[in-house]
Amino acid sequence: MNAELQRLIDLQRLDSAAHDAHRRLAEAPDRQEALGARLEAARTQLAAAKERLTGSQGARRAIEKEVAVHQGRLSKFREQAMEVKTNQEYHAVQHEIAFAQAEIKKLEDAILERMVEGDDLAALVKEAEHELAAEQKTVETDRLALTAEIAEMQAAVERIANERVALAGAIDPQVLSTFERIAGRRHGVAVAEARDGICTICHVRLRPQVFNTVRRNDSIVQCDSCNRILYFVPAPAPAADGVGQPAK
Ligand SMILES: [Zn+2]
Repeated sequence: MNAELQRLIDLQRLDSAAHDAHRRLAEAPDRQEALGARLEAARTQLAAAKERLTGSQGARRAIEKEVAVHQGRLSKFREQAMEVKTNQEYHAVQHEIAFAQAEIKKLEDAILERMVEGDDLAALVKEAEHELAAEQKTVETDRLALTAEIAEMQAAVERIANERVALAGAIDPQVLSTFERIAGRRHGVAVAEARDGICTICHVRLRPQVFNTVRRNDSIVQCDSCNRILYFVPAPAPAADGVGQPAK
C-alpha cells in the first residue's frame, strides 16, 4: 500500500469518526430531554391517579352528609309518629319514614360502591407510585450513562482532532488539499473503496484500466464520477495449508 494512500484512508477514518461523534453529541440534548419527559409522564400519571382518588373520597363524603340529613329527618318523623292524633296523620308520617329509610338505603349502597371504587383507586395510586419510583431509578441510570457517554465523545473529538493534526502534517500539502476539496463537496467523504470494478460510494463502474490501477494501491487515483480517492481491499489470503479452519 502506498504510504500516502494509507494516510488518506486513515484521515478519512478520523474524519468519519469525528463526524459521528459530533452528530451524537448534537443528539445528546434531545436524549436528555426525552429522559426528563419519561419522568414527567410518570409524575403526571401519579397525579392523575391521586386526583381520581381524592375525587372519589370527596364524593363519598358528600353522600355521607346526605345520609346524615336523611337520618335527621328520620328521627324527627319518628318523634312525630309518637304524637299523631289521626289515622291520616299516622299514615302520612309512616310514608315519610319509609321514604327516608329508602333514601338512606340507596345512599348507603352508593357509599359501598364508592368504598370499592376507593380501594381500586388507592391501588392504582400505589401502582403509579411504584412506576414513578422505578422510572426515577432507570432514568437516573440512563442519565449517568448519557453523561459518561457525552464525556467520552468529547474526549474522542479532542483525541481525533489531535490525531488529525499530526496525520495531516505528514501528508503532501497538494494531496491534502485535494482530499479537503473533495471532502468539502462530498459531505465529508473524500475516500472510497473500489470493489468489483465499482466505486462503492457513487456506484459508478470504473474503467477497467482505472480499476486495475486502483487494485495495486500504489498511487492516488480518483473516481471519474465522484472524484473520490479510491483504494482497494484485497481478499483475505486463503489459509496456507488448507487446514486449521474448522467448520462451524
Ligand atoms: Zn465514485
